[in-house]
Amino acid sequence: MQLTNRAKQVDRRPLNFAEKIYLPAVLKGMGITFSHIFKKKATIKFPEETRPFSPVFRGLHILNRDEEGRENCTACGLCAVACPAEAITMDAAERLPGEEHLYREEKYAAKYEINMLRCIFCGLCEEACPKDAIYLTETFAPANYSRQSFIYGKENMVIPHPKENPEAFTKAKGLIDERKAKASQQQ
Ligand code: SF4
Ligand code: SF4
Repeated sequence: MQLTNRAKQVDRRPLNFAEKIYLPAVLKGMGITFSHIFKKKATIKFPEETRPFSPVFRGLHILNRDEEGRENCTACGLCAVACPAEAITMDAAERLPGEEHLYREEKYAAKYEINMLRCIFCGLCEEACPKDAIYLTETFAPANYSRQSFIYGKENMVIPHPKENPEAFTKAKGLIDERKAKASQQQ
């Protein structure tokens, strides 16, 4: 009894002359190959060429600073509460006298980590943040061999300091402005 209708009888007739010399089959194959030369390519030359991201693409996170270089995050924990993947962990600390140039408010995140293997890039952390501190960008985590390397800390996410690296700071701010513009278009 046949379980599906996909069974086929094997053709056991002896090969004729044309089939024995394989030439018609080779020419047929080459015809198919050459016909593809004039068709639009489905592939691109990555990494030299890249495809544009979708306008709603969400990638790796960055943590924002203000124009004076102070970290915006106050370790309030709202992003961690909003995160459906429980990917965010942080340790809050109190700003000490003399640290006003480092942190914008009295509390700051001494440790802030996102597990990119857990993250589903939903953007809820960005939406939950009341301090303009966290944004998702159009980049993705590079491949790696260890799980540990996918746990991103502040050293991976806080944007460059405006005085130490003004060019990189301006570029990062540009990414944030782009993100804000796209978010407002989607509303
Ligand atoms: S993008 Fe979504 S899953 Fe990823 S850390 Fe933010 S809230 Fe969590
Ligand atoms: S990123 Fe925003 S929501 Fe998350 S702890 Fe910092 S200030 Fe709070």
